[in-house]
Amino acid sequence: MDTDTAIHAESLFIGGEWVPPSSSARIDVRSASTEQVIGSVPEAQEADVDAAVTAARRAFADPDGWSQWEPSRRADALDRLADELEARGDEIATIVSAQNGMPISIALQLEAGFPVAVVRYYAALARTATFEESHPHLIGGTTTVRREPIGVVGAIAPWNFPQTLAAFKHAPALAAGCTIVIKPSPETVLDSIPFVEAVMAAGIPAGVINIVPGGREIGAYLVSHPGVDKVAFTGSTAAGRSIAETCGRLLRPVTLELGGKSAAIVLDDADLDLSKIGEDLFGATFLNNGQTCFLGTRVLAPRSRYDEVVGVFEAFANSLSVGDALDPATQIGPMASERQRDRVEGYIAKGSGDGARLVAGGGRPADLDRGWFVQPTVFADVDNNQAIAQEEIFGPVLSVIPYGDEAEAVRIANDTDFGLGGTVWTSDEERGYGVAKQIRTGTIGINRYMVDPGSPFGGVKDSGIGRELGPDALRNFQSVKSIYR
Ligand code: NAD
Repeated sequence: MDTDTAIHAESLFIGGEWVPPSSSARIDVRSASTEQVIGSVPEAQEADVDAAVTAARRAFADPDGWSQWEPSRRADALDRLADELEARGDEIATIVSAQNGMPISIALQLEAGFPVAVVRYYAALARTATFEESHPHLIGGTTTVRREPIGVVGAIAPWNFPQTLAAFKHAPALAAGCTIVIKPSPETVLDSIPFVEAVMAAGIPAGVINIVPGGREIGAYLVSHPGVDKVAFTGSTAAGRSIAETCGRLLRPVTLELGGKSAAIVLDDADLDLSKIGEDLFGATFLNNGQTCFLGTRVLAPRSRYDEVVGVFEAFANSLSVGDALDPATQIGPMASERQRDRVEGYIAKGSGDGARLVAGGGRPADLDRGWFVQPTVFADVDNNQAIAQEEIFGPVLSVIPYGDEAEAVRIANDTDFGLGGTVWTSDEERGYGVAKQIRTGTIGINRYMVDPGSPFGGVKDSGIGRELGPDALRNFQSVKSIYR
């Protein structure tokens, strides 16, 4: 994608149509690989958010509208949306990859494919879930329990998996009968355009989905908007705290998917043959240039095999091909923004300054003179108390931390403010399961890590509150009413 094919939108998608924005403010988006401007959209202002929330409210309150439809009718619409998204998969993946540096091979699988799977999952669930049931009232009569849509949802997504993480919110919200205002991250607003085309082609009724591109101020305005009934957020822990404070004051339900600093626990019986485990190890440690919340960026290695483990990760990092995100051969693309690269480089300097031993990477690739690239980087001899082991770097930087016995590995894995992901590497799956059960985290994998649309995803401690995905996530968007009769 180059400036000749740049994407420009002049309008905002509100109330089922493209409408003029309230101001001339715009968001320019740069390619992470080339630093060139590749598109621009209007930046939503408070008046635009007001219009979007009003449109969502009107659609929600329509007595013959979306919220009142039979769930199976909503399911049909969601299946059409999934089909339309699938038809635009290549386009969506290409735009995401150009914006945030996600290697195109990954974007084609995840940003093109995962939202489709999530939307289809909630369409199927809407057909089978119970929205109303009656049982005998314990003191006589009958109680009917209704799971009604909670109302207008304010959804805020980050830039690392913009379509996937938006789908984690809009798919269950729509299945439940809610309407939604989505605020994408300024770094990744262009993929909203094919998304809107899919929404329109699928015949999703006007006002059910509205999009307000903007930054943190407009996000905060949406969160506190009096017309919003429920907030769903994915992003940093700092922003999550601020949103939680607002929602606490307003008594507004909120789900928060925040940062992570998960452990990849290598047990002493692990098979570390990269020709066998390389792909799974990549998905659990370096996926999306390290800009993935659940990655095991603290590699816990047994002292009995410490040098071997460090050698494997050194070889692994050095084997990864770094390049333009749109090149199908690229495994590690650039950081999503200059700010993000500065942040990652700051942590690399800090790691060296704190005495960790740099064994791979640590700088910018010599052959790439534009784009916000950082080499895949591995530190050895890291103490779990160091900043690079405790703080989320959100880049391709791993810390290999030694441990003595399994109990110490569990203790170090749990010695973190976060609790989102994690993996255990072992040739004995039952042993791995035994370790996985002891980790305080929302999700964990054994010899691989792959988010399952049909199972809850989310974190504990500073990694968030609540869960997305799986059948229970429908309840995030429902209000339960008991009718005694
Ligand atoms: P960020 O928190 O800065 O921004 C995320 C989104 O929130 C953006 O759309 C931003 O404009 C908006 N925002 C920021 N401050 C806000 C506020 N006070 N009120 C309302 N909206 C606000 O995070 P980021 O740097 O864009 O994304 C990376 C972070 O997201 C990482 O910390 C990562 O771990 C986290 N993340 C978590 C998950 C998960 O599921 N747990 C998934 C992906 C990313």
